[in-house]
Parts: sequence; C-alpha cells; structure tokens
Amino acid sequence: MPDQGPGSAQRTAAGGRRGEEDNALVAAGIARLRARGERVTPARRAVLRVLAETSEHLSAEEVLARADEIVPGMHRTTVYRAVESLGEVGLITHVHPAHGPAVYHLAAALTGGAHLHTRCRRCGEIADVPADLLDDVAARLAATVGFRLQPDHAALTGLCRSCADARAAGDGGAAAPA
Ligand SMILES: [Zn+2]
Ligand SMILES: [Zn+2]
Ligand SMILES: [Zn+2]
Repeated sequence: MPDQGPGSAQRTAAGGRRGEEDNALVAAGIARLRARGERVTPARRAVLRVLAETSEHLSAEEVLARADEIVPGMHRTTVYRAVESLGEVGLITHVHPAHGPAVYHLAAALTGGAHLHTRCRRCGEIADVPADLLDDVAARLAATVGFRLQPDHAALTGLCRSCADARAAGDGGAAAPA
C-alpha cells in the first residue's frame, strides 16, 4: 500500500512507540481523551495514529490492517470498538461513499480542517472539497421545506476531472449508466 502522505508525518517502523509522540495530532487526540476521563488504550492510540499519518480516507478494514502493523495481534473487535468509541467522542469521523464501506478520518475538532467529500463513481477516488460548498443549498432547503441538510455525512457523487475528460474523449465506449 503506497504511503503518499503529505510529509506531515513520517511513518516509523512497526512497533515504534516513539513515532506516536512525534505526531501532534495523535498527542492532541490523547490529551482530549484524558481530559474527558476516557481510557487511552493501545487500540485507541493505534487508530489515532493510523489516521493521523495519512491523508487517505480509510475503510474500517484498512484502519484495522494498519493498526495491526503498529500493535500486532490486537483483536479485531477491540480495534473496531476503538474506531467506534473515538467516533462517539468526536475525535474521528466517517463519511459514506455511494458504494462500499464507510471511510474514516480524524475529526475537524482535531485537524481544524472541516470539509465535505466527492466520490468519483468511475474510479472511486474520494476527494476533499470546501465545507461551505453547499451552504446556499442548505439555507434554501431550510427556508423552503424546513429540511436541515447535513452534507458532511455522505459523499457527493459524480465524475472526477480525469474520468470526465476520458468519458468526453469517448474512451469509455457506450455511456453505460452506472
Ligand atoms: Zn474518477
Ligand atoms: Zn476527508
Ligand atoms: Zn454514518
């Protein structure tokens, strides 16, 4: 699995307890857990570190696989519960692509970077887009039908630039609706 992080955090070799303290986001997450009187378990530490060290959006399965590289041998259910509990305390969050499992990343409460997501229905790429993108739509929905839009919980679907270009170039053959 290619590690194409933006250089914010170097992945240290498996078992490196040390690397975790080097990561400000992990340290901030642990501090918040302690401040709330929550337990700081190896599984919770590992999950925070997995998500702090990548800019990718990872499924629970992928989080589990990477957490296992950090702390080998944890029970799957233990790590799943860590993912869930970190979500409940607001340190990580997830988004639902139109297809496939939910994907996780650190919450804006930790990163300061609230955003929405797009997902390409052709290549599956998930990208971050500005958090205020749908503010006008949300305001209109609230004013007209009273519906409160929460656009951060599901990805917007469509075609990424390169897939749209490829389709325009006619590479995809018949325009089969997906
Ligand atoms: Zn695409
Ligand atoms: Zn994101
Ligand atoms: Zn959900």
